[in-house]
Formats: sequence, C-alpha cells, structure tokens
Amino acid sequence: MSQDNISLPPLSRRGFLAGAGGTVAGLTAANAANGQPQNLPSIPDEATGRPFPEAELQMPLPPEERLGWAVVGLGSFALNHVIPAITRSQTCELTALVSGNADKAARVAENYGVPDASIYSYDNFDDIANDENIDIVYIVLPNGLHAEYTIRALEAGKHVMCEKPMANTVQECRDMIAAAEAADRKLMIAYRAHFEPHNQRALQMKRDGEFGDVKMLLGHTMRTLDLSRPRDEWRVLRDLAGGGSMMDIGIYALNGALYFLEETPTRLVATIENPPDDVRFQEVEDMLTVQMGFGSGALANLATSYTMNENRIQLLGTRGSGLLNPATSYSGNELIEIGDLGSRTVPVGQTAATQFTGEIDHLSRAVLEDFEPRTPGAMGLRDVALIKAMYASAERNSWVELNPDGTLVEA
Ligand code: NAD
Repeated sequence: MSQDNISLPPLSRRGFLAGAGGTVAGLTAANAANGQPQNLPSIPDEATGRPFPEAELQMPLPPEERLGWAVVGLGSFALNHVIPAITRSQTCELTALVSGNADKAARVAENYGVPDASIYSYDNFDDIANDENIDIVYIVLPNGLHAEYTIRALEAGKHVMCEKPMANTVQECRDMIAAAEAADRKLMIAYRAHFEPHNQRALQMKRDGEFGDVKMLLGHTMRTLDLSRPRDEWRVLRDLAGGGSMMDIGIYALNGALYFLEETPTRLVATIENPPDDVRFQEVEDMLTVQMGFGSGALANLATSYTMNENRIQLLGTRGSGLLNPATSYSGNELIEIGDLGSRTVPVGQTAATQFTGEIDHLSRAVLEDFEPRTPGAMGLRDVALIKAMYASAERNSWVELNPDGTLVEA
C-alpha cells in the first residue's frame, strides 16, 4: 500500500468526535451480523502467485511503441526540465528539436542522441509534417509565440503540449482550440501541478471531507524577476509575455484555486500596483491581488508579484485546513494539515519531480488511448480569460462579472 493512503487520526475536535462516533457505529453494525467484521479480503497464508495488479501499475511502453516528441524552443525550462523528463518518461522518446540557434541545437542533439536530420529551425518548422518520427510537439517558447507554433504544429498533423499561459489573448486560445478540432489532434496545456503528488493528495483530502467544507482559498505565488537572466528578458515585454507576474507565476495560484475548489468564479475584483520608475514594469505588472467569488459561495484570495518570493496555497475548511508550502515548486513541495488540535506534515509517497514525467506520460497515453487530456485547451482559455478579466477589473477599479468559460460579461 502506498503511503498516500495512510489514514491519520483527525486534527480537529469536530473531526475527532465525528471519527470516533463513526468507528463505534461501524463496528457495532459489523459485529451485529455474525460477531465478526464483514468484507475482509482473503489473504493467502502461504507463498503464492498473486494476480497481475493492473489497476495499480502503468507499465513502461516497449521502445517500438513509444511516441516521438519534438521540443520547440531550447531555453531554460526546456533544457533543465522538459527534455530530461521526456528521456525519463515511460511512453516517449525525444525525436526532434526546433531552435533558432543551430549550434545550440546541435550540442543538445548530440547529448540526447537526436539525429542531425531531426533538427529544425523556425523557418523550416512546417517540414515536421513529413517527419513520421514526430507524434507530439511540446511548445516551450515565450508566451506570445505559443499560438503561432501550436497552430502550425497542429496543421502539420501533430498533437501539441503547450506551456502555460496558453497564449497572450483569448482569441488566440480560441484559434488554437479550433485548429486542434480541425486537425483532430490533442491539445494539452502543461499545468504540471495537476500531476504533482502533494497537490493531488490535497485535492483528495478535500474531496474526502478531511478539511470539512472548504469555503475559502488563499493562493500566493510570486517570484523575483531578474533582468540579468536571459530567460527573464522577454518577460518584461507585453508582446512576448502577454502580461506580468499574473501571466507568468500568479497563474499557478489561479489554476490551483480552480483545481481545488472545482468551480469557475462568477465575479472578481483585482488591484495592480507597480513600483514607479522600475524599468521592469513599464509594460507588465508587478503586484496583483484578486478576490474571486464562486457560485457555491466560496471565496478565493490570490496575490502575485515579480518583486517578492512566495509559493503557497491554503484550502480553508470548516474542520481545518490544508496548506501547500511550497505549493508548486519543481521539488520539495509540502502538504501540511492544520486543525484546532495542532498541525502535521501529510506523508506523500512520491516526490514532486514525478510531475514532469506525469504530464508527459498523460498526453502520450491520451493520444494512444484517445481520451481528452486532463488539462485541455479549454482550461488554458479559461485561465487566460480570467487574467484578462483581472486586468479589466483593475483598470475599471470595480468588480466584474464572468461567463462560465471565464470570459468577461460585457455590459
Ligand atoms: P527562455 O527564455 O529560457 O526560453 C525561451 C526560448 O525561446 C529560448 O530558447 C529562446 O531562444 C526562444 N525564442 C524563440 N524566439 C524568441 C523570441 N522572439 N524572443 C525570446 N526568445 C525566443 O524561457 P523559459 O523560462 O524557458 O520559458 C519558456 C516557456 O515555458 C514560457 O511560456 C514559460 O511560461 C514556460 N515555463 C513554464 C514553466 C513550468 O513550470 N511549467 C517554468 C518555466 C517556464
């Protein structure tokens, strides 16, 4: 049994009393039947062959059945996380690279055993249509280029994993979804936290009622933007980034809030504040706070910034709370359960590193088994629409109403 399923005693007085009552009542009912607990599994008491544990096991695919992945954009995230995860995955192999820098691409190709003939530039990118070794294209470019390269990849007949945020505008998101439908290909947005074990465990605990009724969520995801790093240069330009801290890092709090509350907000109000005269914030925002209201009556408060460092999401329920801190790091995430009797770290069997292979294997299997990915284009559109609604709210200095797909209700 995995540690994920360990049942711990309740941390709140209400939970303790409810749990104790439940246990006594349960035993009484079982004992009433024949004096013994009911429905125990039959466990062999000698050495024996057990059945194949299909429900618990995802077998690695044999090499000839693995899907070929091409990576577009060989920047910081692609080189440090995406490509290593593809090589660790159970379902795919790295078969092509797309880069504007031929020398860099040749070095990466040599390291990962990608043949020279499978290196593409942005100019001959459309030739991937003739490359049978490419099944899925992973777009790891600046946000402002996501729509163009996603659509070109879909038109070339390939499935697409696109990094977050999906695109700079709602219209671009709609065009990407339409291109996937027209090509009959899968489109998934790389929301890795959906495959991160601590986040998954927190959602399971919420669904099991371990925090009581979760009515509020606090999400603070921030990072310092450092212009001495090449990867942060394009992030200050609106055309390439689409926005500031909320598009880049606040989106984790936003997507997390909707993942945990399992609802789309019906209204929101946002405020933006930029330090005056800071060259980084001439085109994109630094600090943004937003309050979101949901149809169920739940509330979420989110904060993001490019001048502080914070990464936490807290689910607040009537019986206690679940605090992810850090919530969405590449590694070292923690889930803390807090009740009125104390707090404790929740044991989670897997490390956060599995989130990268998890999302990659998920899309490969969605293609092979023909199911809709868990984080589809519609989710990417919803989040971009909500961020644009935040910008509109901050501009108008008022609450705005939202449609079910996250877009603004225009007056
Ligand atoms: P980066 O700057 O390190 O990489 C971007 C790559 O795009 C570079 O190789 C660059 O050469 C190339 N590029 C092509 N045309 C360009 C242009 N006109 N201007 C600038 N660069 C151009 O950035 P990154 O941090 O790797 O981010 C890439 C994407 O990945 C972004 O969409 C970002 O939001 C996303 N990302 C996701 C995560 C995550 O955890 N899921 C983490 C980091 C970045």
